[in-house]
Amino acid sequence: MPDCIFCKIIAGEIPSTKIYEDELVYAFLDISPINPGHVLVIPKEHHESASTIPEATAGRMFRIGSRIGIALKRLEAYDAYNLHLADGMAAGQVVMHAHLHVIPRGVEDHFHWNWRQLPYASDEDRTATAEAIKAKLSL
Ligand code: AMP
Ligand code: ZN
Repeated sequence: MPDCIFCKIIAGEIPSTKIYEDELVYAFLDISPINPGHVLVIPKEHHESASTIPEATAGRMFRIGSRIGIALKRLEAYDAYNLHLADGMAAGQVVMHAHLHVIPRGVEDHFHWNWRQLPYASDEDRTATAEAIKAKLSL
């Protein structure tokens, strides 16, 4: 994709700090990390949404992402990692080439997800929500 920054990184037209590469995926350091060592794993084929990535490539992204996560945990500074993927602008996707974030975490890294826990109005409301999702699910 000509105007895609991550396609340009894969092509070597924009510099990146490579962590791993194979025939399906490329992994490199995020230029503005949540913590040092924050890695992005991307499919070599351009896909805006994770939902269109072929299963073998998507599986490889998850596999390599979690193996990089294990490597990060072996570093002195970290105890854990988050995998994060934003699909769509409302979810915070800025670069429109699908990417899996591997974010190293330490117990005192002073980073907190602004995670909220809303209640459902009722059991019926929860069931209706599940039914609405299932009615839209195409595989
Ligand atoms: P997202 O908000 O999920 O789309 O994340 C995009 C990520 O790409 C951000 O964390 C950026 O810091 C990162 N990023 C953007 N440009 C580059 C680049 N040239 N090299 C490495 N990471 C980049
Ligand atoms: Zn691309």
